[in-house]
Amino acid sequence: MKTISLIIPSYNEEESLSMLYAGVRELMDTHTQYSWELLFINDGSNDNTASIIDNLIEQDPRVACVELSRNFGKEAALLAGYDYATGDCAITLDADLQHPISCIPEMLQYWEQGYDDVYARRRSRGDSGWCRKIFTRLYYSLLKHTSHIDVLPDVGDFRLLDRKCIDTLKLLREQCRYNKGLYAWIGFRKKEILCDQQQRIAGKSKWSFLKLFNLAIEGVTSFSTAPLRISSILGFVISMVAFIYMIVIIAKTLIWGEPVAGYPSLMCIILFLGGIQLLSLGIIGEYLGRIFNESKNRPTYIARQYKRSDNAEK
Ligand code: UDP
Ligand code: MG
Repeated sequence: MKTISLIIPSYNEEESLSMLYAGVRELMDTHTQYSWELLFINDGSNDNTASIIDNLIEQDPRVACVELSRNFGKEAALLAGYDYATGDCAITLDADLQHPISCIPEMLQYWEQGYDDVYARRRSRGDSGWCRKIFTRLYYSLLKHTSHIDVLPDVGDFRLLDRKCIDTLKLLREQCRYNKGLYAWIGFRKKEILCDQQQRIAGKSKWSFLKLFNLAIEGVTSFSTAPLRISSILGFVISMVAFIYMIVIIAKTLIWGEPVAGYPSLMCIILFLGGIQLLSLGIIGEYLGRIFNESKNRPTYIARQYKRSDNAEK
């Protein structure tokens, strides 16, 4: 019998977990042709998430949990999920029921047909505001044009991954993780299905604008060196213009002489060049920071414990 792992990263989800479990249990009970594993990743929650999961583990031998030693963020929590999942395929799903469980049977169907990575594309963006929508659209077009991989807009972490994909993702141990890019990077046979993104059932989104902005920078710097290229091109163009301008000034001085003037233009040029230089330094700094982080070679997450019911089949 094939085993399906459901990987659920949870950070302060005490209000959602029981409803999520009810939905998932119905799914598991109606698809008895598979054996199921429900793997929670408790990402350093500081509410009752841990005790709710403990209760579930006692009630249901299919439930397991990896508890991280602190909050490492969703991207790291997902890697922990891939490391501990035992299934022939794994489905990653948010704890807040924004990812409709009703789409899972369709994913399984395509998996049975031989697809390795079945991902859900959002038909609507649920409760996201217009500002976030515009930002998202701009960002993906930037990412698409700067990186050589096709990161899809409106596709999140709700997907089914075959064992082949999980084992490959486990090899990619980078600490600054951008899973959306990694899914695209590993390749394999992909299949898209359409799903409606639901409203969050309880609690608040853990993503602040700043966190999203950081993830966005992560995305670009993980998969492309285009910003470095752009700053070199900019440097080259500005030097050419400056060179031409220098010749013009020398010629003017030689032909007509030059009374001391031109303070405004001088200021403009100095400020403009200063700005460009700082920007380029900042971009180089971004990449240097990544090298610094990766070179420390620390684990992406630290697991405090792995819990599973004693009666679970081994
Ligand atoms: N999450 C996590 N660690 C974090 C932040 C979020 O494991 O540091 C989990 C969270 O519990 C949820 C999923 O990641 O299951 C998606 O989080 P959220 O709903 O806050 O994000 P959004 O849906 O707004 O993108
Ligand atoms: Mg959510």
